Amino acid sequence: MWKTFSIGGIHPHEKKLSADRPIMPVLPSGQVAILLGQHIGAPAKPLVSKGDRVKVGTKIAEPVGVVSAAIHSSVSGCVNKIDAVIDASGYPKPAVFIDVEGDEWEEGIDRSDTLVKECNLTADEIVGKIADAGIVGMGGACFPTHVKLCPPSTCRPECLIVNGVECEPFLTADHQLMLEHAEEIMVGVFILMKAIRVNKAFVGIENNKPDAIRLMKKVAAAYVGIEIVPLQMKYPQGGEKQLIEAIMGRQVPAGALPVSVGAVVQNVSTVFAVYQAVQKNKPLFERVVTVTGDGLSNPSNLCVRMGTPVRQLVETCGGLPEDTCKVICGGPMMGKALVNLDVPVSKGTSGILLMGGQEARRSAVQPCIRCAKCVAVCPMGLEPYLLATVSAHGDFERAENENILSCIECGSCQFTCPSHRPILDYVRLGKAKVGAMIRARKKG
Ligand code: SF4
Ligand code: SF4
Repeated sequence: MWKTFSIGGIHPHEKKLSADRPIMPVLPSGQVAILLGQHIGAPAKPLVSKGDRVKVGTKIAEPVGVVSAAIHSSVSGCVNKIDAVIDASGYPKPAVFIDVEGDEWEEGIDRSDTLVKECNLTADEIVGKIADAGIVGMGGACFPTHVKLCPPSTCRPECLIVNGVECEPFLTADHQLMLEHAEEIMVGVFILMKAIRVNKAFVGIENNKPDAIRLMKKVAAAYVGIEIVPLQMKYPQGGEKQLIEAIMGRQVPAGALPVSVGAVVQNVSTVFAVYQAVQKNKPLFERVVTVTGDGLSNPSNLCVRMGTPVRQLVETCGGLPEDTCKVICGGPMMGKALVNLDVPVSKGTSGILLMGGQEARRSAVQPCIRCAKCVAVCPMGLEPYLLATVSAHGDFERAENENILSCIECGSCQFTCPSHRPILDYVRLGKAKVGAMIRARKKG
């Protein structure tokens, strides 16, 4: 019997249009806009100014405070300006604009395909290299990885869990990465085990990727302590808490960190980036992005430099289909609609989904019929209809008391609602307001 999590969950129809498409590099042309805040925490502080020349891999911004991450140039060329650009949130954010000239890399980055297996660094040295490389969680959370690898002294990690689930119905970037870079990922797993001082790691992969399960099992056989765990398909199994329960059978209490039950979770893309940083001296300046959609002539998995405008990815995949109504950053379940195609790719961009009129159209909202389907599917055991109602009425204290901050924004409630109620929209609003309330309370 396949393992999975126990509370809620749904089975959205999957459309992996870009499955089996080899990862194809895309070099940006013209100008890139590299965001200073590509992570949770304080935006990085620029180290460059207008007119400075940079190479691929040059550090252009340094972290500010404990929770932050370094930023590196993804291109060679000349800094044009530091200015605001609209990011995936729809708001202007500071970025370093660089005019692209050639493709000259920093010396010291190993660009060869040679697999470097051996790692003689200490745990602290590994964490230091990961911090220097600006690595953050690439599954979407964007939490600085070096911070996650140093849990509070009251918590002791027992194992590493690697997230190879990719449960969003359209995305295939992680799947293809496992097929093309299984060896590198396995070395990355070994390095992370060393960094958190554990001798056991589990790699969770859903059973809709049998080729990846087979290959990863074959490669893992040469490593002590790494186990590949095939999982039953169920959304949102890629959520940290859901994955931990599926693999370890332990539930993370509300408000607690995963490490409180002994697990440190990292996404496969992050693990690959760790391999590249530690073994190849390569900072995080590019990532694999799935670009997909029914109307797109060539859905693809692209290796994209940070700061590349989404427009260039769409052009690479055949251009914008005529009936495109919505462009989503991420997958259809958790992604957010972009306000324009100039939004730059950042460390958390796992996919770009183009939706035609038919798919993008929202059905007319009907009154809640109190069927409780949203409650049944919520993987966090919340009451989504209630959270949405109190948020809509501006009762954010009630929303806080009803644990709105535990919501992982998976969208299962909205997907299931027969009345097409915009539950997730209201829950997101409530979470933002409650978060602001808590910050204000702490300040004073
Ligand atoms: S309330 Fe949040 S966690 Fe629960 S189903 Fe809705 S989006 Fe997912
Ligand atoms: S699923 Fe929709 S209609 Fe049913 S209780 Fe929840 S909000 Fe109401």
